[in-house]
Amino acid sequence: MNLYLGIDFGTTGARSTVIDSQGTIHCETEYTFANNGQQQPELPSVWQNALWDSIEQIPPTIRNQVRAIALDGTSSTVMLCNTEGIPVCEPILYNDARGAAVTDRLRAIAPDNHTVLSATSSLAKLLWWQEGGLEAHPTTQFSLCGTGILPVSLCGTGILPVVEKLYFLHQADWLAFLLHGKLGISDYHNALKLGFDVDTLCYPNWLTQGIAGAATPELPRVVAPGTPVGEVRAQVGDRFGFPRDCMICAGTTDSIAAFLASGVNLPGEAVTSLGSTLAVKLLSHTRVDDSRYGIYSHKLGDLWLVGGASNTGGAVLRHFFTDVELENYSTQIDPEQETLLDYYPLLKKGDRFPINDPNLPPRLEPRPTDSVEFLHGLLESIARIEARGYQLLQELGATPLTKVYTAGGGAKNSVWSAMRKRYLKVPAVTPIHTAAAYGSALLAKHGTQIERG
Ligand code: ADP
Repeated sequence: MNLYLGIDFGTTGARSTVIDSQGTIHCETEYTFANNGQQQPELPSVWQNALWDSIEQIPPTIRNQVRAIALDGTSSTVMLCNTEGIPVCEPILYNDARGAAVTDRLRAIAPDNHTVLSATSSLAKLLWWQEGGLEAHPTTQFSLCGTGILPVSLCGTGILPVVEKLYFLHQADWLAFLLHGKLGISDYHNALKLGFDVDTLCYPNWLTQGIAGAATPELPRVVAPGTPVGEVRAQVGDRFGFPRDCMICAGTTDSIAAFLASGVNLPGEAVTSLGSTLAVKLLSHTRVDDSRYGIYSHKLGDLWLVGGASNTGGAVLRHFFTDVELENYSTQIDPEQETLLDYYPLLKKGDRFPINDPNLPPRLEPRPTDSVEFLHGLLESIARIEARGYQLLQELGATPLTKVYTAGGGAKNSVWSAMRKRYLKVPAVTPIHTAAAYGSALLAKHGTQIERG
């Protein structure tokens, strides 16, 4: 049987899913990072162990039928490696905003309203490294060992080891390198926040000229997500029993992998993620980019995936209620009954999408004494923000919304779905699959189809 393996590196751990040509799941594994995956000098070896462990958990009889593998990682988690793929300093994580220190240079280089104009963008992190961030940080030394790379010394000297050339990679690029051994390859989902131009499929001049200088790392060669990159390294294939010609395909980001899992493929259809925060992604004929609202578009075949993310969402609900309370109180709400409570639920001030105001205060008053009434107000207010978000994407030119699939912890709340339908004015349904690892497995399957032409 032909099987396909997807591996997802999210914020808290790694998950893997193996599917067949029909999309039926044959195996799923889970690995939780020790220390919650937060910044630590030995992070690359944590990821590497998670990768090997995730694969090891898959039964050998399944592993030896895997035709292709694709990986996704957290967007804008980046690293610098030497020519052997050995990390020369600690990676910078997706949510690390140290790039705020290079805002002026970033603004001088990038066009107005560009996606890279954010303290957490990959380009901001690259510039931070260029501006001497390497000296300011302890250096970890790694060495190649067995099927991969392990740290040999964690005592930093604070000085970048002298190497002739450095490679700038995203998390997913490096993990795929461990599997196929080809250094310096990325996909255009991961490379978007580095400044890669998905229209012309090249790095724009403003970027290459803007970063040119003494400490310029090699930027990855960028291919379409799912593109077959190379066969699995012999060492890795032998250790895990993958077929010799098992293909490693270019990956994607974790949130796009989760979108792919939903199976949405018609323009006008969208996926709302009701997790800790609220994220919306609308499949569109047209591209919309506006850094004022944190809106950007990923290329998806001939279409665009237009998205935005708000700080409102499940984290605010969890601040006031346990998950059991959320479930119990929700059943007591009449979703057809409009509440007069008009909140903007935030844990702290500031939102970007659909309202762009870093000082926007949380609005959680008046607070009724009845918990059910309070929850009703919170759920309906988040539903209004979601609907306003889709309205904004359409006002800025995205394809009109026809249907919303829901993912994340809030997806199981049918009362909330009924409320959201009233505001969205389109059907809100739950997809069969929502796991990012499933989306990456689909990408691997797609890769072998590309290969066959
Ligand atoms: P994360 O973004 O952290 O991965 P998840 O997708 O795991 O989030 O979803 C967790 C969120 O789901 C929590 O913030 C919680 O408030 C919310 N949640 C859990 N159960 C319910 C429910 N029945 N109704 C609404 N929200 C819920």
